[in-house]
Amino acid sequence: MADQEIRHDVAAALEGLRARIAAAALPGAAPKLIAVSKFQPVDAVEAALAAGQRVFGENRVQEGKAKFGPLREDWPDIELHLIGPLQTNKVRDAVAAFDVIQTLDRPRLAEALAAEIARSGRRPRLLVQVNTGDEPQKAGVPTGEADAFIESCRAEHGLAIEGLMCIPPVDEDPSMHFALLADMARRHGLDVLSMGMSADFETAIRFGATHVRIGTAIFGDRPHAPAGTDTGTGGPA
Ligand SMILES: *Cc1c(COP(=O)(O)O)cnc(C)c1O
Repeated sequence: MADQEIRHDVAAALEGLRARIAAAALPGAAPKLIAVSKFQPVDAVEAALAAGQRVFGENRVQEGKAKFGPLREDWPDIELHLIGPLQTNKVRDAVAAFDVIQTLDRPRLAEALAAEIARSGRRPRLLVQVNTGDEPQKAGVPTGEADAFIESCRAEHGLAIEGLMCIPPVDEDPSMHFALLADMARRHGLDVLSMGMSADFETAIRFGATHVRIGTAIFGDRPHAPAGTDTGTGGPA
């Protein structure tokens, strides 16, 4: 596709989505749109930037760092979210490259993040990912362990948890998953709820999503992940 065409399509998609998000929003709420640019070329991200988008999501540390490091020089107000699983050996890079890490889901990772935050002085905002469908292949803390995990992130590791994130099972009505996450956030006094993707963001917003993560509906179909790799989300790659 020619550059002009990419720009036009991405700008039009963003405009349409902003209107749908505003229409679905609860009174007084203004859910934030995270443009999920994983596997998309820099051209596509630049088209979104030109259309006023500043908040992006990537699901791999190296890809996010490589793509957004150079872009941040021209666009210092970019806000980058890590929405894919984080291995402890990539914590240093993740803390350096991302403003928000949405996928905190196990004690070892909490420990590694706390150590890196203390070492680097950088404080990415943190969300706990909850595996609301308790799917064995999917990242996220199991629902039965989530309350204790959130408490231990705060009390044992001294982490400031800002909210929760989930990726409902693909083959189920997402409503009960969104309701469960919203309820859990309320119990813990957490303000941020990252839930809802291209196919279900309006439902998520009705259940109180403060952030929706949208890829396909902005950029079109993703070029496929390199062979032999896995996004690890269990969600659509
Ligand atoms: C890819 C991805 C999205 C975006 O999905 P779309 O269906 O393309 O909108 C959202 N959240 C996570 C965690 C993802 O991995």
